[in-house]
Amino acid sequence: MEDCIFCKIISGAFNTEFVYQDDDVVVFKDINPKAETHLLVVPRVHVASLNELEDERLMGKLILAVKNVTKQLGIKSYKTLINTGKEAGQEVFHLHIHILAGEIKK
Ligand code: 5GP
Ligand code: ZN
Repeated sequence: MEDCIFCKIISGAFNTEFVYQDDDVVVFKDINPKAETHLLVVPRVHVASLNELEDERLMGKLILAVKNVTKQLGIKSYKTLINTGKEAGQEVFHLHIHILAGEIKK
């Protein structure tokens, strides 16, 4: 997807540091963190939102990446969040799971 910011990040266009990556998923820090640790778990494939999800295996891969990256970083307690649709606060239309850990900013 040409004008998708997360597709560009995944392609390496901005040299973003991936705190975790595997064949299907990358994880990087949110640019505007709303918690002490705020990570975005993003599939390499472009799916605009949960509303466009067709392959249910993708969610398994994303959730496993959540487990792997939190384990790797020694994070035992965290929240996960998926915003779906503009009215619910989705700003980037490339499916992603937020991981929020530590103190959450109001
Ligand atoms: P959404 O509101 O779509 O669920 O979450 C999008 C998140 O992506 C926001 O928390 C926002 O701060 C983050 N974000 C937007 N653009 C960029 C970017 O270019 N780089 C990074 N690392 N995060 C971004
Ligand atoms: Zn994309």
